[in-house]
Amino acid sequence: MSVEKITAAIRDIPDFPKEGILFKDITPVLSDPELFKMTIDIFCEQIKDKGITKVAAIDARGFIFAGAICDRLNMGMVLIRKQGKLPYKTYEEAYDLEYGSNTLAIHQDSFEEGEKVALIDDLLATGGTAAVSVSLIEKAGGEVAKILFLVELAFLKGREKLGDHDIFASVIY
Ligand code: AMP
Repeated sequence: MSVEKITAAIRDIPDFPKEGILFKDITPVLSDPELFKMTIDIFCEQIKDKGITKVAAIDARGFIFAGAICDRLNMGMVLIRKQGKLPYKTYEEAYDLEYGSNTLAIHQDSFEEGEKVALIDDLLATGGTAAVSVSLIEKAGGEVAKILFLVELAFLKGREKLGDHDIFASVIY
């Protein structure tokens, strides 16, 4: 029931940010307090009581969910940011995404060695962003125990880039 309400609120924006891309706009989920709370409830249910101590969030929409989850579950938050934004020593990796290319970075001292981490972003498309994020987390000493998305575009087969990681998506197209 709650997932249906969340699904109904996600808007399709054709040709954004480029022609041929059908952009899934999640902002109506954020602006409705009931839907936002449901979304956080669903994510928390997936990662609670699993020994996960940090949530690593992907720039920028992943941050929105991670902040609320970390507050709810008493976990620490780690930022995976676009190049040039993190002030301390970083690991960085470049990759291609559904539209364009990007470089992501993480602080080198983000985790204790072997610390269990949940990775979160708003949407899984081709999987490049999440795959690079997994690699950065591992370089920084974390162990990815769960990967969370609000939306998965399953026809783009992003899961194939994520090996045998434990992946959850609330809304799958
Ligand atoms: P990808 O690396 O191809 O899995 O792309 C995932 C990243 O790009 C996520 O951070 C999404 O926010 C964004 N993204 C890619 N495709 C879309 C789309 N069709 N609608 C909304 N966001 C998208």
